[in-house]
Amino acid sequence: MVESRGLNDADCLHRFLFEHMPVRGELVHLDESWQQITAQADYPPAIRRALGEALAAAVLLASTLKFEGKLTLQLSGDGPMHLLVVQCTNQQEIRGLAKWRGEAPEGDLRSLSGEGRVAITIETGQGQESYQGIVPITGASLAESLETYFQNSVQVPTRLWLATGADGAAGMMLQRLPDSWGDEAEHAWEHLQVLADTLSRDELRHLTDRDILRRLFHQDDLRLFEAQPVRFCCSCSQGRVESTLRMLGRDEITELLREEGRVEVRCEFCNRAYRFDAVDAESLFIDVPPGSGPEVLH
Ligand SMILES: [Zn+2]
Repeated sequence: MVESRGLNDADCLHRFLFEHMPVRGELVHLDESWQQITAQADYPPAIRRALGEALAAAVLLASTLKFEGKLTLQLSGDGPMHLLVVQCTNQQEIRGLAKWRGEAPEGDLRSLSGEGRVAITIETGQGQESYQGIVPITGASLAESLETYFQNSVQVPTRLWLATGADGAAGMMLQRLPDSWGDEAEHAWEHLQVLADTLSRDELRHLTDRDILRRLFHQDDLRLFEAQPVRFCCSCSQGRVESTLRMLGRDEITELLREEGRVEVRCEFCNRAYRFDAVDAESLFIDVPPGSGPEVLH
């Protein structure tokens, strides 16, 4: 029997470090944040699960980066769930959405997304610098595709365990510290993976982080850092929507106003509606300083 963690470790990220082995780790639980994100659309159960795993993975991946900015994980494929996008900032602010057509079958990620790819984009600061890594969707789970990404693109051996339950999602990551080579480091890495593989999805979802670590690594000294909160937060704004409308151009907006009487833009991440009447729309095209380029909405 797994004892429930109740309200402990809800919506939080815990980092940990093994004292005598060159391996670090993280545990994340998404509760209310996942519920808020999956309530934005009428998602089939299989897609709610995929979103949960992807959001947990995005938090784990984003926290390995030492920068201000955000990480985006995007799955696109030829299956029923043709697009899934999740984002996490360095403040653990998450948002995400998925698009699908027809029935979303129960089964592994491959049967949901079909053949496709996972793109990992990292943007720093105001989006000046960005890096993108792309891997094919491999194996049955998102974790496997991401492990391939770490192996090929980042060259830091990394393992992920992801689980979504009825009311939330959770994830664990183990990562070998860079430049830790030799037989001893290799042995430690193998040893910890074998132990971590014994954790059930149910335990990952429902045990407290302390209990998970005690259950898996009770013989290994480790340091658990202070929990960091994770929350749902959308970065859409009036300014970004205005930039997008300017990008569409005056003629297009005039046409929309003629047909609809107003222009409404709804953010797909948070469902917030931005409305522009004829006067608002007209004001978009005055006082635009020359050479000010359009911003990207998301
Ligand atoms: Zn939004």
